[in-house]
Amino acid sequence: MEAMAEKRILVVEDETRIADVLERYLRAEGFATERATTGRRALELWRAFQPDLILLDLMLPEISGIEVARTIRTRSDVPILMVTAKAEEVDRLLGLELGADDYITKPFSPREVVARVRAVLRRAGGRGRAQRIYRAGAIEVDLDAFEARCGGQPAALSPTQLRLLAALAQAEGRALSRHELLDQLGEAYVDVRTVDAHVKNLRRRLGPCGALIETVRGVGYRLRVN
Ligand code: CA
Repeated sequence: MEAMAEKRILVVEDETRIADVLERYLRAEGFATERATTGRRALELWRAFQPDLILLDLMLPEISGIEVARTIRTRSDVPILMVTAKAEEVDRLLGLELGADDYITKPFSPREVVARVRAVLRRAGGRGRAQRIYRAGAIEVDLDAFEARCGGQPAALSPTQLRLLAALAQAEGRALSRHELLDQLGEAYVDVRTVDAHVKNLRRRLGPCGALIETVRGVGYRLRVN
C-alpha cells in the first residue's frame, strides 16, 4: 500500500448504487470519502470537506457537473476526475477545457476508478500548498493561511476580499470583468455593482497596495503586477 491513507475523495454521483460501490472501494483502499448527489451539494462539500480529489459525474440534477467543475476551477486546482456515460463525449469535453485531470467513462470497474484516482493524486502530488500562494508585485495572497500582505505587512481582509484579490493576482496583470469577479463571491444572483463595493473596501484595507488595483473602464479591474 502506498502512503495515501487519509486522502479525502469527494464522490459526486446521483446514482446511489454506483456511489455506494465507489465509496466502498475507495474506503477499503484507505481513502476518506464524502458523497454529494447534486451539483449544489458538491459545491458545499468541496468547501466544507476540502477534498484532495473530486470524482465528478457530469450528469447531475440541478447544476451540471460541467458547471460544478467550472466553478471549482475559478478558485481551486484540486484534481478533478470526470465521469461521463458517453465515451464519445470526452473529445468534446476536452475542447471545453474544464480543467479536468482525467476522464473515465461509464460503465467502469471500481478497481479501474481506484487506479485512476491514485494516478491523478500521484501526478498532482507535486503541486501542493505552494500553488495556493499568489504573488503580484508587493502583494502576496495566501489562501491556505487566509492571509494577505502588502510589502510584507499583513492586511486584514475578509474571505471575500481575499478571494477577489487572489483572482486578480492569479490573472497576472490581465483585467478581469466584474462578472468574472462576481464568480469569486460565492453569492448567487447579486448585482455586479456589488463587486465595485467589494473592490472599494479591498483597496482601503490594502493600504498603500490598494492603488495597485486599477479600474479598467468598461471592463472591470486589474492588478498592476510591476
Ligand atoms: Ca448521473
